[in-house]
Amino acid sequence: MSAHLVMLGPPGAGKGTQAARLANHLGIPAISTGDIFRTHVAEHTGLGVIARRYMEAGEYVPDQITNAMVRDRLARKDALEGFILDGYPRTLEQVEALDGMLKDQDRGLDAVIELVANHDEVVERMLKRAAVQGRMDDTEVVIRRRLEVYAEQTEPLTRVYGERGLLVQVDGMGSVDEVTEHMLAALAE
Ligand code: AMP
Repeated sequence: MSAHLVMLGPPGAGKGTQAARLANHLGIPAISTGDIFRTHVAEHTGLGVIARRYMEAGEYVPDQITNAMVRDRLARKDALEGFILDGYPRTLEQVEALDGMLKDQDRGLDAVIELVANHDEVVERMLKRAAVQGRMDDTEVVIRRRLEVYAEQTEPLTRVYGERGLLVQVDGMGSVDEVTEHMLAALAE
């Protein structure tokens, strides 16, 4: 299958891990907007200085900035055969922007995978991750805010993509291997 995929799911659901595994399996890049922002922050670029303010508070970086960054990334050669977007789109405005970018390139999405996860469990997972990775946005207050922002701004996307017949829901709560297996099985259906 051609693979133009989006990975949705609350923070802590394992999107990054599963996107990387799926990308490896399909031979296409996983594109994580969170990772790109973190690289900018680490390198103190102009974009990084702006993004950091939002990330530290658990808020979304403004759509215009995020959309421009994704547009550049999707135009790169390695993304021409397909991609898995991990953490983008996250707002309805980003959905529209992505539609426009793909239309300009004469392509469209094939599927949107939603990793379905229990809120209490993801908070626990993220606190564990914080202890290991020390991410700047993994404190409990910020984690709770990120979940709220997800519910308000990103959860509505599941309805939009559901109506387009693109949504593939996968239980994100098993072991890493189990979730990968379920995801591959669901995509093969
Ligand atoms: P993530 O690693 O995907 O959880 O993203 C970490 C943080 O980066 C988010 O909490 C946001 O502040 C920012 N971010 C990542 N992707 C987006 C996006 N699509 N739109 C706005 N902000 C984003």
